[in-house]
Amino acid sequence: MTMEHLLELDKKHFIHPTSSIQQQQEKGAKIIVEKGEGIYLTDKNGSVYMDVMSSLWNVNVGHGREELAEAAAEQMKKLAFSSAFSTFSHEPAIKLAEKIASLAPKGLNAVFFTSGGSESNDTAFKLVRHYWRIQDQPNRRKIISLKRGYHGVAAASTSATGIPEFWNMAGQMMTDFHHADTPYENGTDKAIVSLRQLIEAEGPETIAAFIAEPVQGAGGVLIPPSDFFKEVRNVCDEYGILLIADEVITGFGRTGKMFGVENWGVTPDLMSFAKGVTSGYVPLGGVIVSNHIHDVLKEKSKGTLFHGYTYSGHPTAAAVALKNLEIIEKEELVENSRKMGEELLKGFQKLKEEIDIVGNVRTIGLLGAVELVQDPKTNKRFSPDYQVAAKVIEALHQRGVICRAVTYEGTDIICFSPPLIINPSQIDSLLERLKGAIKEVK
Ligand code: PLP
Repeated sequence: MTMEHLLELDKKHFIHPTSSIQQQQEKGAKIIVEKGEGIYLTDKNGSVYMDVMSSLWNVNVGHGREELAEAAAEQMKKLAFSSAFSTFSHEPAIKLAEKIASLAPKGLNAVFFTSGGSESNDTAFKLVRHYWRIQDQPNRRKIISLKRGYHGVAAASTSATGIPEFWNMAGQMMTDFHHADTPYENGTDKAIVSLRQLIEAEGPETIAAFIAEPVQGAGGVLIPPSDFFKEVRNVCDEYGILLIADEVITGFGRTGKMFGVENWGVTPDLMSFAKGVTSGYVPLGGVIVSNHIHDVLKEKSKGTLFHGYTYSGHPTAAAVALKNLEIIEKEELVENSRKMGEELLKGFQKLKEEIDIVGNVRTIGLLGAVELVQDPKTNKRFSPDYQVAAKVIEALHQRGVICRAVTYEGTDIICFSPPLIINPSQIDSLLERLKGAIKEVK
């Protein structure tokens, strides 16, 4: 099909996710991606781009892995789909649940599968409410999350998301969801005070769980201070609140550890995951729960648990996930993520010395951010009208780099989340292009 025809049909029939419909109608799709290989994407015109966001923070093993296509084909030929409801089960889902339990922090051993991150968080919220209800504490229904947190767009995950733009479309969706301050602006102590105040104001006996990302991704790659999660764990224990780690981005090596929480030395009660578990080759997500929660469910959850997606434990998705996790382990991609993240940070720091609009720079594994500020000494931000981050993204695009900016609440943050297979010369090439792009805009 010609490019023109595709663009016309795109406008006419395709409502894009998280996009401006008006802009689509005015400008049309910018890139029609045709193929992917390694860290690169090629569009319909033959232009090649470094995909330094791993598309949506998810293509951890890189594009074009034949092993994954083969795993899917093999499983599809044998058994493409079969239910896991009720008393049915199948080998791929059983093996994947066992594999994820073996990788997860000690004490988290039972997995509920979903089709993605939003469903995983909605599932976690339903599980914690159920957990309290069957233990005669039905009032524990409220969920606390962090401002600037992103937890998805299903009903409950939209409510937990702490970026209010996501409530514009249909409201916050559900009540009983509350947001405490992120430690991003003012550090651990103030954030913990905000959390405590919220718990006290709402009534500790009404709170089911606290959820947070080990590193806030869509909020702008906000790496918490190293003591934040330990303090959160203490507060949760003090008030008997369950702790949910949203590992949808941070899981499976993204932060230089298998799971993000390992950076902070805490064990959550539940973890939601998606994205990197299949590197995006097929949709799959899930929730891992602690032995204690699983024991309570086994003992007290009477009758059918009326919660399950058609694709919970999809055999083909599970087979692809198993192969993907095998690749991550065999190619030592968690270690590569840690090492390359350090290289990226060194490069960012050099940029900061060389260019006077580079403010805070950070990485944790292969999650990174470069903040642009008018004056790094005072951290004075650019006027939103200047749209500095958008200009840098465009200049990067011109240099063959696909990247993402977060401009929420007046920040200008360029985010990085490259595939975990990235190598030193590709990091150098990225840094060179980034330098050119920022200098052009400055
Ligand atoms: N949680 C986090 C931390 C995410 O970053 C995302 C997606 O970006 C989600 C949940 C939602 O996942 P999905 O888009 O697969 O529903």
